[in-house]
Amino acid sequence: MTDDRKPVGGAADRQRTCAMCGAEFRPGERTELEAFSDGEVRYVAVHPGHTTHSPTRERAAARRLKGIPGQAA
Ligand SMILES: [Zn+2]
Repeated sequence: MTDDRKPVGGAADRQRTCAMCGAEFRPGERTELEAFSDGEVRYVAVHPGHTTHSPTRERAAARRLKGIPGQAA
């Protein structure tokens, strides 16, 4: 993704873990930012190649953002 207009705002720093697999980001690790809609548009950080772009994973990501242990499929 090469859309630089997004309000990146340090999503990886806030989030600290990958929205898809839940593993912590290492310092300096490259991350990708994805947008998904959960009633409102949210931005989540993920490892390169990881994606939340499926309904199941979007729900899992939303749970992780709320700090609830996921039950990822
Ligand atoms: Zn990941």
